[in-house]
Amino acid sequence: MLTDAQKQQMAAEDQQVRQRVGRIKHRVLVLSGKGGVGKSTVAANLAVSLALKGRKVGLLDVDVHGPSIPHLLGLTGFPVQTSGSGDGPPLLEAVPAMENLRVMSIGFLLESRDTAVIWRGPMKYNMIKQFLKDVRWGDLDYLVVDSPPGTGDEPLAVAQLLGPPSHAVVVTTPQELALTDVRKCVTFCRQVQVPIVGVVENMSGFVCPHCGKESPIFKTGGGRAMADQMGIPFLGSVPLDPGLVDAGDKGTPYVPRFAESDAARAFAAIVEKIMASIESTT
Ligand code: ADP
Repeated sequence: MLTDAQKQQMAAEDQQVRQRVGRIKHRVLVLSGKGGVGKSTVAANLAVSLALKGRKVGLLDVDVHGPSIPHLLGLTGFPVQTSGSGDGPPLLEAVPAMENLRVMSIGFLLESRDTAVIWRGPMKYNMIKQFLKDVRWGDLDYLVVDSPPGTGDEPLAVAQLLGPPSHAVVVTTPQELALTDVRKCVTFCRQVQVPIVGVVENMSGFVCPHCGKESPIFKTGGGRAMADQMGIPFLGSVPLDPGLVDAGDKGTPYVPRFAESDAARAFAAIVEKIMASIESTT
């Protein structure tokens, strides 16, 4: 049972979160039904694409078990600075990744990438709350949140703490196993009342760099069919591209580096649809 003092403190913290989040125009949760479908890759490339379009963007990585955003953007080991905030506790400074894009990740606060974190539900909730409350984002057009896969504690905490108006982008791969999990994700968004901007089908077909022939390694089209079935918009397909793996391993943002590739064009088209959908409603 919580004491009155604890309840008061929680209410004060919730108020601080609302104040901080209130300076962010659009909040986008990137979700997936299962791991390994490229959710972090999509989140990072969406954030970079939005920043390239001149939007002021924050990218928040709350994947406590596998924070990969610092690695994907070449920011591993970046020392996070703190600065005073008047009479409150010091604030964490979001890390600049490129013009218009700042990043915060649990990965910056772990001693090493190999550190295993054992967090129980309430600890995860508090960590996510702290990120939303104690990070100096400033005024943002978009906060893109890379949530851990599934429909567990963290996506729930993010949805509850961000509050409306937030939007979800759901990432899947085309094969049936991933699609089954993503349906749960769609149901989750409906339960927590976060409107879904649409579905991205990642790893959709592979164009062989040698012969130019396309192979649907994980099939293609399952994401669109699922979106149609569930009555949600389909945002686009991102093909399998070895350049994406290489960019991720080297920590260089993929989209500006391979601007002419099919995958970069797919991200650009997806971001246009997301902006059109979100900016017309808010
Ligand atoms: P998740 O966040 O869903 O666990 P990641 O974004 O970490 O997945 O991606 C898992 C792996 O798949 C990474 O090595 C990433 O580089 C690779 N990957 C993601 N999307 C693509 C793609 N479209 N083409 C090739 N590799 C990809």
